[in-house]
Amino acid sequence: MSENVVLELKNIRKRFGPVQALKGVNFKLCEGEIHALMGENGAGKSTLIKVLTGVYTKDEGSIHMKGYDGDIAIHSPQEAQDAGISTVYQEITLCPNLSVAENMYIGRGKEIIQNWKKMNDNANKILESLDIPTSATTQLANCSIAVQQMVAIARAVDMDCKVLILDEPTSSLDDQEVAKLFKLMRDLKARGVGIIFVTHFLDQVYEVCDKITVLRDGVQEGEYKTEELPRLQLVSKMLGKEIDDLSDIKNDEAIMQDTNEENVIETNQLTSTSGISPLDFYIKKGEVNGFTGLLGSGRSECVRAIFGADKVVGGTIKKNGKLVKINKPIDAMKAGIAYLPEDRKVDGIIGDLSVRENIILALQVLEGFWKPFTRAEADDFAEKYIKLLGIKTASADTPIKSLSGGNQQKCIVARWLLTHPEYLILDEPTRGIDVGTKVDIQKLVLKLASEGMSITFISSETDEMLRTCSRLIVMRDRKVVGELTGSDLTQNKIMSVIAGGDK
Ligand code: ADP
Ligand code: MG
Repeated sequence: MSENVVLELKNIRKRFGPVQALKGVNFKLCEGEIHALMGENGAGKSTLIKVLTGVYTKDEGSIHMKGYDGDIAIHSPQEAQDAGISTVYQEITLCPNLSVAENMYIGRGKEIIQNWKKMNDNANKILESLDIPTSATTQLANCSIAVQQMVAIARAVDMDCKVLILDEPTSSLDDQEVAKLFKLMRDLKARGVGIIFVTHFLDQVYEVCDKITVLRDGVQEGEYKTEELPRLQLVSKMLGKEIDDLSDIKNDEAIMQDTNEENVIETNQLTSTSGISPLDFYIKKGEVNGFTGLLGSGRSECVRAIFGADKVVGGTIKKNGKLVKINKPIDAMKAGIAYLPEDRKVDGIIGDLSVRENIILALQVLEGFWKPFTRAEADDFAEKYIKLLGIKTASADTPIKSLSGGNQQKCIVARWLLTHPEYLILDEPTRGIDVGTKVDIQKLVLKLASEGMSITFISSETDEMLRTCSRLIVMRDRKVVGELTGSDLTQNKIMSVIAGGDK
């Protein structure tokens, strides 16, 4: 290891069952450096941190620390701490009913915690030196979240940490608190601590980080000096899309938005427990629009609020110009809204039930279980949609779990079409399914829209959205940051809006 490298991870591999979460990741951290670990949700950031801190055991690879020879085998968080690696998680893991000083010294030997005066003096000294606005004897619960995080950091510093890991520490902090945290991070940097900063806020990365490592799909995409990686480049690396050789496939048929049409759905300052910024949204009759942004930017949370799948805590929804009250999904269904959720394994299919039962489910819920469909009705519904969508199944009786992913997905689409919604929300309808079915679903979306249905289509594959949507709403950090239509519907435009800023 070269002079000032404090930590080096080599070829780290980690698998969870069928998921290869880390596929040979390299990572290098220097002393006195703030190093951002970036990547979309699912890229492997948390897994890498957990391997490094002994929460998970790595399958392969080695971890090297300055001052140690060879691989330091870390088997537990305690061993990580002993080696000088400390972590502050987003969810604070301290004890709110103890004092600040007790939180700093708990679990660190009887001697200090039994000597109250010494403990409090030590704590005050370190709090002061780090400029943390609290005192040793304050009960932790009486400190703001920001100060609690700082106390967790102070604890790490007092344990003489060489590597400090901050996994999304700023998500719940306001601007002033973030500024304080950054000051503390810079202080530690000046003391030679190497800091790994996991965040999805691009602004923060450019404000405080020296270097950026990008992970994508469990692979280290690259390591960059912050000033040498413009935001647009960073976004393109996270998404795995080159900026220049993008073919922006455009389908003129998709541009059929008639601006004279009425808004079918309109929201005003809609917010939910998921923490999205107040959402002003509309969709017109026969329109296909979509939410785009990095994974985790709040795309699904927006549509979940409209459907009542997340609890709405503010704002209003209008349907055809009239206020509607949507507290839960059944209210939305009654208002003619259908929602195909992102994770069909969790929210979607009922594996042991037949294709028929899965298809009629939503309509049955809507009409009420006290008047079940007759077998003949159910058969008619199922047969009609099996044919319409070309679902490949032995029969309507076949358990849905024995179908391929693409055909299961078509059943779920059928389920919602059967309710004849005016507004259909498709959240990642094509993820993980074969190309043929993908194209079928895209064609179906355009056909339904031409018949007057309003559709919101969300996909991680931007080219798919560019092919189907006439308007794209761009999200960043749970906020709508732009809207693209017409000739602005290009991959490059989307990425530059996601990147924001002027870099
Ligand atoms: P990130 O923190 O970058 O969002 P994660 O490290 O949490 O990504 O996840 C990487 C991949 O590993 C994802 O596909 C995730 O579903 C999977 N994964 C993470 N933890 C587990 C686990 N305990 N069991 C199974 N799969 C997991
Ligand atoms: Mg994570």
